[in-house]
This record gives sequence, C-alpha cells and structure tokens, in this order.
Amino acid sequence: MNSHILYPGDKIVIASHNTGKIQEISALLAPYNIETTSSRDLDLPVPEETGSTFIENAVIKACAAQAATGLPSLADDSGLEVEGLDGAPGVYSADRSGPKRDFASAMRRVREELVNRGRWLYEKPAANFISTIVISWVDGTLKSYEGKTYGCLVWPPRGDLGYGYDPIFQPDGYNKTFAEMHPAENIELKTECKAVLSHRSRALELFINECISKV
Ligand code: IMP
Repeated sequence: MNSHILYPGDKIVIASHNTGKIQEISALLAPYNIETTSSRDLDLPVPEETGSTFIENAVIKACAAQAATGLPSLADDSGLEVEGLDGAPGVYSADRSGPKRDFASAMRRVREELVNRGRWLYEKPAANFISTIVISWVDGTLKSYEGKTYGCLVWPPRGDLGYGYDPIFQPDGYNKTFAEMHPAENIELKTECKAVLSHRSRALELFINECISKV
C-alpha cells in the first residue's frame, strides 16, 4: 500500500490549536471518512513559529505533531495579504493581534495603515488570504500545497461567525464577509460557505486530490 495515500478509516492529526481552522479542515475531510484529531484535542504543546515564510511555519507545526503522535500530521499556515500594504500583514497576521489575540485591534491597524498611505479613499482595497498546507508522513516525507482566495476589505467589520480577519474580508463575487458566512453550512451546496470558498479549502482540495483514496 502507498504510505502517502490515506484510505477510509485512516487517522491523521490536524496540527492546530485554532478552533476555526480545525472545524474547517475536519468538515472538508469528513466526506472521505478520514478520522481526524487535532493538536488541541491531544493537548500537544504549541510549537513556536520561528519561520519567516508560511511554508517554514507549516513544516514546524506538522513535524511537531507527527513527532509527538507517530501519525500523519497536516498543518496550515495562513494569513492575510493586503495589496496596498505590500502584502502585509502576511506571515505576521497572527502576531499582529498580540499575545491576547485581539483581532479587533489588528483589523483597525490594517485599516489605519491603508488610510495613512492614502490607499483607502473610495475603493475597497484588494486583499487575499493565503494558506500553505503541509503534510508530514510517518516516514518523514513532507509535501506542501497552496491556496489563495481573492477579495477586498470592508469597513466597518461585519459578522460574528468567523475568526481572525474574517469580518473585514469579502471574497470576490459575494456581498458577505467571511464572518457573515457559516463556516460549514451549505458545504454540499458549495455556496456561501467559508469552508468551500476559503484559501484553506483550495489548498486542501489539492491535497485531497493527490493523497486521499476515493475508492
Ligand atoms: P497561523 O495560525 O499562524 O497560520 O496564523 C494565521 C493567522 O492568519 C490567523 O491567526 C488569522 O489572523 C489569519 N487568518 C488565517 N486564515 C484566516 C481565515 O480564514 N480567516 C481569518 N483570518 C485568518
């Protein structure tokens, strides 16, 4: 059997302590009958994200969970890239919220920086979310997948269903922010559901196509 393919009943660790991410990834893997647990559920220590790129941080998280559990482990490192801020906050998206994870203040800072640069006058500034997913297999092999969702920023923030920068991000083609869309409802209809439209789901789709047995 190919050790880099997951079959129904196989178990993997979602290498995250972020409830929103775990919920999204579990919902997307559910149709394939892959059993999931997470670093949060297993109470694993939170590894320090010392990388300067998304892929480096995803590798740190995936390898830490794989070493602790002996199971294939899947990590996501993600962030918001704002065109008018030369791609910031990017890999530092989580850090911007400070130790208390105060995203109201992190969103305000994005807004203020754009206003100060004269980049938030009439137009809604362009931005995208990016997700890099890394799988660490039990033999130590690593593989990465990347997904992006393009959209614009809105002010004031809207919605309370999401997390992080969701209340100011409106994906292209929709009038709702990610925080106004249900994380996983309508997943079968493939519409107005964050789990379907998100950068993470796009990266995960590549992983699913390559690594999950459909028979
Ligand atoms: P990570 O957990 O180190 O990957 O940090 C990712 C950070 O990027 C999160 O804490 C959020 O600030 C932001 N982020 C990533 N994905 C999303 C998303 O889907 N919605 C809102 N914010 C996100």
